[in-house]
Amino acid sequence: MNKLDATLVAEALKRAEYNLTDSIKDADVVLINTCSVRQHAEEKVLSHLGHLKHLKENKPALVVGVIGCMAQRLGAELLKSKAVDIVCGPTQIPQLTELINKTLQQKEKSIAVTGQIRRKVSDKQTQALEDFESAYDTDDKQLPHQAFVRVMHGCNKFCTYCIVPYVRGPEVSRPPKAIIEQVKKLAGQGVKLITLLGQAVNSYSYAAGEKTYCLADLLYMAAEIDGIKWIRFVTSYPSEKFFDPICRAMADVPKVCKYLHIPAQSGSDKILKAMNRKYTAAQYLNLLDRAKSIVPGLAVAGDFIVGFPGESEDDFKATVELTKKARYKNCFIFKYSPRPDTIAEKKLPDDVPIEVKRSRNIELLAVQEKISEELSSQFLNKQVRVLVEGLSKKPHLNAEDKVGLPQLIGRTAEDWIVVFNGAPDLAGCFADIKITKTSPLTLFGEMSA
Ligand code: SAM
Ligand code: SF4
Repeated sequence: MNKLDATLVAEALKRAEYNLTDSIKDADVVLINTCSVRQHAEEKVLSHLGHLKHLKENKPALVVGVIGCMAQRLGAELLKSKAVDIVCGPTQIPQLTELINKTLQQKEKSIAVTGQIRRKVSDKQTQALEDFESAYDTDDKQLPHQAFVRVMHGCNKFCTYCIVPYVRGPEVSRPPKAIIEQVKKLAGQGVKLITLLGQAVNSYSYAAGEKTYCLADLLYMAAEIDGIKWIRFVTSYPSEKFFDPICRAMADVPKVCKYLHIPAQSGSDKILKAMNRKYTAAQYLNLLDRAKSIVPGLAVAGDFIVGFPGESEDDFKATVELTKKARYKNCFIFKYSPRPDTIAEKKLPDDVPIEVKRSRNIELLAVQEKISEELSSQFLNKQVRVLVEGLSKKPHLNAEDKVGLPQLIGRTAEDWIVVFNGAPDLAGCFADIKITKTSPLTLFGEMSA
């Protein structure tokens, strides 16, 4: 979501005739797009602001803006910092160019955040976001021929640990017509892979006349568009609602990638309840079984939080068991971080010591790594199709091959990362790769002739 917001903002500024620079020293305006999901993310922003404060001592005209979730969460408090001139929440990004122009001209600080974030979003605000979203080209230049398309804003799930509903506001699904028009436009610009985005993307629901559109409808409609070759969607909430139709779309439509990111967060029913996740471990595993039976070859990814308040050794063991049964392709594992004003932060003491959180994190990662290794080894000597992303950022051994071609990175439809040697101008193209070596998270191979 943040990556998409950053792309939209950069595009809006380019259209307002600002030039983008990679060097902070050359910049007249510096914007920091922020995340509030864990404290660590916020600490990094505060440390950047410390650095910018020093820069501003030598360059007083420098304008610094904090945008995104942290701007919404801290609002006027951030403006007290000497480093900060603009504070702009996620719902206000359509106004950002105006705020920057004003600050540059009038040399005054400015703030635009939502007063009561859980209030129903006004039609005017929805329209402003819609215009902003649809008007700009969201082709991600870092990942050629790929684009994110938001299908909904906000979240209504209120998992007790999570700040998102308090900084991104209530769930609002975008009109299917606008989404499909946007996908068509992107396809016209050469985009091949689109990723539909929502915090609980399978909750997408939009009533238009007699029909209520769900995510499966969007998948079928997007697949009709010439030029679009692959369609992904993240992140799914483990719920019955619309689940089977979405799985059937994955099974029936070749363009829909057989990849499901569906976080469990914990394998303990006691902890799931305390997290306000509305399922038990058994129900979650049933959903996965059903998905895998409807969609042969489905790759599943998950998220877990370790060290949630009250998580005992037995609760953690239940998480390990669930991980083993789920057989994820990969998992994102986070140490619980209390977020201000969430229900967990207000009501549940953060009682799992940091060393225990750390060791559980390491243990769960090791369990997952073994599963990932087993799954990835099945690709050995097989051919896979990837969409090439570009040069590999982490050159592995033998970075160049015999004819001096650099290492490239690509992903399969099921999101496996593949490293191989090839010409850099393959970025954005599909390539067939014969896998010659595997590791838990990366496949290595050679381009097939
Ligand atoms: N909407 C998505 C979902 O529900 O899966 C993603 C939400 S969040 C931005 C991404 C992940 O961060 C969550 O799945 C959760 O594992 C983790 N997370 C959220 N709040 C957290 C917290 N307070 N401490 C640690 N991890 C957290
Ligand atoms: Fe946060 Fe839960 Fe919403 Fe995901 S579904 S954004 S974890 S409240």
